[in-house]
Amino acid sequence: MLYTGRFAPSPTGPLHAGSLVAALASYLDARAHQGRWLIRMEDIDEARTMPGAADSIITALRDFGMTSDDDILWQSKRKWRYEQAFARLSARVYPCGCSRKEIADSRGSIAADGAAIYPGTCRHGLAPERTARAWRLRVPDPDHPDDLIEVDDRWQGIFRERLSATVGDFVLKRADGYWAYQLAVVVDDAEQAVTDVVRGADLLESTARQIYLQRQLDYPMPRYLHVPVLANAAGVKLSKQTGAAPIDCRRPVQQLQQAAKWLGLDVLPAATTVQAFWSAAVPVWAQRFGIR
Ligand code: GLU
Repeated sequence: MLYTGRFAPSPTGPLHAGSLVAALASYLDARAHQGRWLIRMEDIDEARTMPGAADSIITALRDFGMTSDDDILWQSKRKWRYEQAFARLSARVYPCGCSRKEIADSRGSIAADGAAIYPGTCRHGLAPERTARAWRLRVPDPDHPDDLIEVDDRWQGIFRERLSATVGDFVLKRADGYWAYQLAVVVDDAEQAVTDVVRGADLLESTARQIYLQRQLDYPMPRYLHVPVLANAAGVKLSKQTGAAPIDCRRPVQQLQQAAKWLGLDVLPAATTVQAFWSAAVPVWAQRFGIR
């Protein structure tokens, strides 16, 4: 099967050094496999989308020598596809009337991403005085074999997660009417025939939910490789939320070298052009991951 990789930024701000690391890793892996590399613009959360950010990300990627091998997919234009997938899941989906505060106050445990694990309040039907806010997908009971999701990540090794213990029934359609990231990613990865998901390790905690969704929708499971997330000197992840500065595209080779160094590729021969950087970096990546 033809290797297909992707970089899927959320256009909530311009490309920053942290997202360059994820883009670099996914591009290197695709090129090392002589596969395709696609850009997918994850602009599904329109409330968080920053005007102009998508174009600026695409331009920055081009300056770094990365262009999509097919048309860029825009999630904001694909809502009907998420609706179709949602309809296919209807037997396991239920309306939920709980507010964020009610869930936080429910004394349930806290998930890896800091959110409270959904205690299942509306699982057996909405109370009569309640109206549906969000729509949730039922996860298996704790003693059910499907509850345990296991993945052999190409960077992180074996990763195991029990959905009932880490997230509980999770949201597919949000209270503000937007489709949840988890659903959109899974539908799009399947439709774009993505064979390899290469992204930052902060998304490892979403992976079990995504694999569970793939199974519910009879989609194939891609391989995963989660690279270490770029952190600042204080150990804080660089992200748009933590105010990471946009990347300086005037010195692309230096920026690429720095991102490569973060990924442990510090044996690269010196390069003066973007093209020379890629020519040097792809074989090093291929060797590191035993790709022939
Ligand atoms: N859009 C997500 C982000 O920017 C990445 C999604 C993915 O790679 O699966 O964090």
